[in-house]
Amino acid sequence: MSTIFERIISREIPADIVFENEELLAFRDASPQAPTHVLIVPKRVIARVDEAKPEDKELLGALLLGAAEVARKLGLNQNGYRLVINNGPFGGETVPHLHCHILGGRPLGWPPG
Ligand code: 5GP
Repeated sequence: MSTIFERIISREIPADIVFENEELLAFRDASPQAPTHVLIVPKRVIARVDEAKPEDKELLGALLLGAAEVARKLGLNQNGYRLVINNGPFGGETVPHLHCHILGGRPLGWPPG
């Protein structure tokens, strides 16, 4: 059964895509929690960071570097931004396809809710 993100990656369903390379896709969140809220996902499915394996090390590194590249491209690096990866029910994960939230455009509170 494919997740909503796999269907976005395959272009089965539309999304506002802001960045793509061979291994990653970044698109705007459908329910933004900040003026800029983008999700960056590996095209290869890893359900969540807890399921990542040592052999995924390069892809995990690419995900973070990709997130920083997207943040720069969207001008978020000027004032700062937050990267969030939710893992499991208490972490707030709702889509079982590893993704990193890129949030910016306003000051963000801490600690998170
Ligand atoms: P999670 O809660 O798993 O960390 O994040 C999943 C995110 O995916 C949520 O912020 C949610 O708004 C977003 N989302 C869910 N369905 C869709 C969709 O169909 N399109 C887009 N662009 N974002 C989605």
